Amino acid sequence: MATDETESSVQPTRRKVLGRIGTGLAAALASPVLARQAGTPAPTTGAKPPAQSIKRDPTTQYKRPPFPKQTQPWPGLASKMVPPPDHGETSYQGTGRLVGRKALITGGDSGIGRAVAIAFAREGADVAINYLPAEESDAREVIALIRAAGRKAVAIPGDIRSEAFCQQLVAQAVKELGGLDILVNNAARQHQVGSILDLTTELFDWTLKTNLYAMFWITKAAMPHFQPGACIINTASEQAYDPSANLLDYAQTKAAIVNFTKSLSKQIIHRGIRVNAVAPGPIWTPLQPSGGQDPNKLPQFGADTPIGRPGQPAELAPVYVTLASQESSYATGQVYGVNGGNAQP
Ligand code: NAD
Ligand code: MG
Repeated sequence: MATDETESSVQPTRRKVLGRIGTGLAAALASPVLARQAGTPAPTTGAKPPAQSIKRDPTTQYKRPPFPKQTQPWPGLASKMVPPPDHGETSYQGTGRLVGRKALITGGDSGIGRAVAIAFAREGADVAINYLPAEESDAREVIALIRAAGRKAVAIPGDIRSEAFCQQLVAQAVKELGGLDILVNNAARQHQVGSILDLTTELFDWTLKTNLYAMFWITKAAMPHFQPGACIINTASEQAYDPSANLLDYAQTKAAIVNFTKSLSKQIIHRGIRVNAVAPGPIWTPLQPSGGQDPNKLPQFGADTPIGRPGQPAELAPVYVTLASQESSYATGQVYGVNGGNAQP
């Protein structure tokens, strides 16, 4: 019988976790609206509408540049970002679109992966997250949020640059979740280097191992566990189509992720397994202040998009939910852009 009572599962007491997350979020978790996230849809009459249904001007929905100058050591923590990113902690309301699904999300501790983990749990899925041991404090918050949604949460720290760990990651997720229906290959290494002359073989290898080899190893390990109706969602990037000069290694991995997605989708649809990708634009996550972006340019992050601001992780999660849900049964081999208006193929 699968259980989340293992040593590697993070199981802080509710009081400790809520203390760490902060009083605003703690109050939100205690509220009847979020307490209902366990899967029971909100009553339709007289109930407050879910935050995602409220009509708003997207250009002013979130903070616009300039942002305070900031750097963090890699891999960075969401908890140290100013302003804090919005992962949907106090807003995402599920409607039962993934009830009973079992999902593994790499990089599920922060940024886009955290927003997806919160949304999947509130849609009714049990969720395993992978992250680096240095990100344990961010991961604890996510585990607490999944459990607050009434779902099983499994924490599996480890470095996906190792093939052996990738195999172990999938095996542990399958064992503890009791199967696997949704794989989100989302973790990535982004380290900006201005010149090819400074891009060492070690740095190049680091990026390719994290962004490509790990996706290949994890997907391969997951394949035998998938039943018809399962799906894979890979996080690509607008860098796949419009690469920045200082992201030579990263951008080509994102182009390869798009290609991998299209090729694999054709290979495995006969088994009833769909494969899609999401290509985000500039998103306010720890990837950027921890080496992903030139620190001098970070204050203007997202300013050059037509919408005039970076996206927040919470603005990505609904696309992953839609792709994972049975509603997208005819969508495979597709890449969905969420980038504030920059045109993409
Ligand atoms: P993030 O820093 O919050 O998430 C990236 C995660 O990758 C980290 O949390 C970490 O857990 C994981 N990771 C990195 N190296 C690892 C390793 N060796 N072993 C295990 N885990 C490792 O940042 P994010 O922006 O949410 O990134 C998520 C995805 O979104 C990435 O694929 C990134 O390329 C993509 N993306 C981000 C942006 C952006 O502007 N933030 C834009 C386009 C695409
Ligand atoms: Mg992180």
